[in-house]
Amino acid sequence: MTRTLEILLGTLVLGVLALAQDDDFSKVQIKVTKVAGSIYMLEGSGGNIGASVGDDGIVIVDDQYAPLADKIQAALKSVTDKPIRFIINTHYHGDHTGGNAIFQKQAPVIAHDNVRKRLEQSGSAGNLGSISREVKPQPKEALPILTFDHDMTVHLNGEDIRALHFPSGHTDGDSIIFFPKSNVVHMGDDFVRYGFPFIDLSSGGSVEGMIAAMEEVIPKLPADVKVIPGHGAVSSLDDVRDYLKMLKETRAAVEKGVTAGMTLDQLKQENVLEAWKKWSGDFINSDAWVETLYNDLAGKKDGKFIKHN
Ligand SMILES: [Zn+2]
Repeated sequence: MTRTLEILLGTLVLGVLALAQDDDFSKVQIKVTKVAGSIYMLEGSGGNIGASVGDDGIVIVDDQYAPLADKIQAALKSVTDKPIRFIINTHYHGDHTGGNAIFQKQAPVIAHDNVRKRLEQSGSAGNLGSISREVKPQPKEALPILTFDHDMTVHLNGEDIRALHFPSGHTDGDSIIFFPKSNVVHMGDDFVRYGFPFIDLSSGGSVEGMIAAMEEVIPKLPADVKVIPGHGAVSSLDDVRDYLKMLKETRAAVEKGVTAGMTLDQLKQENVLEAWKKWSGDFINSDAWVETLYNDLAGKKDGKFIKHN
């Protein structure tokens, strides 16, 4: 009797949690902003969506969460009646690819080879410290139909929309998406505005790779480019430069401590990142960033780097 009650209660609690989650999504509204030229940004919950809109239709970059798909579709409808032609994923995380299975009924999803591989298998996402999340394998409908190794270009709306892969930054399957005619770039989660970044060391990400990506991308961009970050408001190239400076300086500060023989706990206790505390965020606070830098430097990368051609 007690056991049955426990099971019933358990089911009830799970049901309430599921409801609460649906309810959270039900309150989300999709905000559409024109960025520049023919590029729009859609904000709801999860990663920013970039959209190229023109005579040929719509190309979207990332698709947030499945329960928001109808709202995303309605938001796009407020801009154009044209259909979605392609969806590009910047990386595999669920807050950027959750709508894949639904949107792929209309148009193919394109992504780096490792995005498909990581969506297909189970694993974990995290910084090999306090941040750790289980990753579940996705159904085949959610897997990108078109994948590429180095770069790929979609020639639509008079734009050469180019996805360029940067190895081992936020994950091991990141792409930055360029819209040269409109002078806009979508950075995926290699550049975010929530403070210190999340680097998914468990999924082949690395601090060095994120720094290398920013160092490579900054000189490619015009001074007045509009930058869509993975999360947060539309930014400038100077914002990206500040972010890169912070990445390099904080890495150097932690490296100095490690060289001097400090443990991870000592680095945290002595607050080695005090000078950069304005970057401490709700998701990645100073301690979580010290862990990331320390684990990255210590080479504790047990995340499997998926080999591709
Ligand atoms: Zn991400």
